[in-house]
Amino acid sequence: MKTNFDAKNTPKQELIDTCVHCGFCLATCPSYRVIGKEMDSPRGRIYLMDAINKGEATIDEATSSHFDSCLGCLACVTTCPSGVEYDKLIAATRPQVERNQPRNLSDRLIRTLIFNLFPYPNRLRTFLPSLWLYQKLGLQQIIRKSKILDKISPRLAAMESILPEVTVESLQDKLPTIIPAQGETRYRVGVILGCVQRLFFSPVNEATVRVLTANGCEVMIPKSQGCCAALPAHQGQEMQAQQLARQMIDSFADTKVDAIIINAAGCGHTLKEYGHILEDDSEYRTKAQEFANKVKDVQEFLSSIQLTTELSPLSGQELKIVYQDACHLLHGQKISLQPRQLLRKIPGIVLTEPIDAALCCGSAGIYNMLQPEVANELGQQKVTNLINTGADIIASPNPGCALQITKHLRFKDKQPMVIHPIELLDYSIRGIKLNLS
Ligand code: SF4
Ligand code: SF4
Repeated sequence: MKTNFDAKNTPKQELIDTCVHCGFCLATCPSYRVIGKEMDSPRGRIYLMDAINKGEATIDEATSSHFDSCLGCLACVTTCPSGVEYDKLIAATRPQVERNQPRNLSDRLIRTLIFNLFPYPNRLRTFLPSLWLYQKLGLQQIIRKSKILDKISPRLAAMESILPEVTVESLQDKLPTIIPAQGETRYRVGVILGCVQRLFFSPVNEATVRVLTANGCEVMIPKSQGCCAALPAHQGQEMQAQQLARQMIDSFADTKVDAIIINAAGCGHTLKEYGHILEDDSEYRTKAQEFANKVKDVQEFLSSIQLTTELSPLSGQELKIVYQDACHLLHGQKISLQPRQLLRKIPGIVLTEPIDAALCCGSAGIYNMLQPEVANELGQQKVTNLINTGADIIASPNPGCALQITKHLRFKDKQPMVIHPIELLDYSIRGIKLNLS
């Protein structure tokens, strides 16, 4: 068989052949919902992979665009009755596109910027003082109102539109390397700080550490840890992802922890994939699988241990909360019950469910910067569905989703608070009441 994929990790024909073309996955696919074309659905992309693998189509600008339009949300994997491993297929296809289809200039520029900046918190941090001034001097409002960035580059405009508030906390990591457990030490755990999370959502990391230590966990935070590799891995940047994964494994090498805790859904999914990312690396293969076996989403971990802390109500009255399923928790890690179970433990909380809870919000790593039109449509749908629940609070377990939802809430009259579930748990443990006015 003459294949038009290159020889390196070709999408496997036996996986492609498991698709029986039934089309059940189409309704749950966000790119198909918005674009409405077969080639932008899971089934269409599998047809394309099949054709390329059989030499009947090539990796070119047109076929690549259909792989690029996939959000990697993995909803199709959850839906497929035949158990098609689309996650493995698209993970093998994306590096093929990166190696074999030259990108145009604007694509190259934005990707170079993203891949050289976002996975490196120290590089990103050097821009924070300028961004702080940009926000504090009111330039951000002027730029947004003028829509000038939309005219120059819709992708730059999309990047700017999700920029979170830069605070003094963004400028440095405050958490020490070892934080002792409160009371008896039941577990020793490592915590991964993330890139966006440590810069723009440091309160989420601090809440994570407080909840863990309050429940008998000694916490280790190796200073040498960097990016988990989610961002390049999701975009087919294989070598960069492998290099970042090796660095992460090395940074936890001497910690002897029972579990490695992550509070960002997208990062957690990639960390659990390290065995696969480094499967061709004879030096790291085993270490990578051992590392991945220890990775736990913070909600997954807390649900698996007996909470020893008392929980207080977050308000003097009943609080309506909607939990937003992040795709890389729901579809990627099959975690949906645990966050809800934890939230229900907080007295006075009523959980509501939105329509289309399993549909992607359009964030999808850097998808909302690379494919802003589709992402905007999905973001608006998601926010409308969340608001329609009447909830006072949106509990979001992923920084990318939180940024996307916050952006689209700006265009709505009602603006519920967006917060990570672990922060709610932390407030409840500390007896802090929420101010929702
Ligand atoms: S991926 Fe699964 S659900 Fe979708 S068309 Fe193929 S067999 Fe059917
Ligand atoms: S991963 Fe998501 S966007 Fe991609 S084909 Fe599957 S359902 Fe569609």
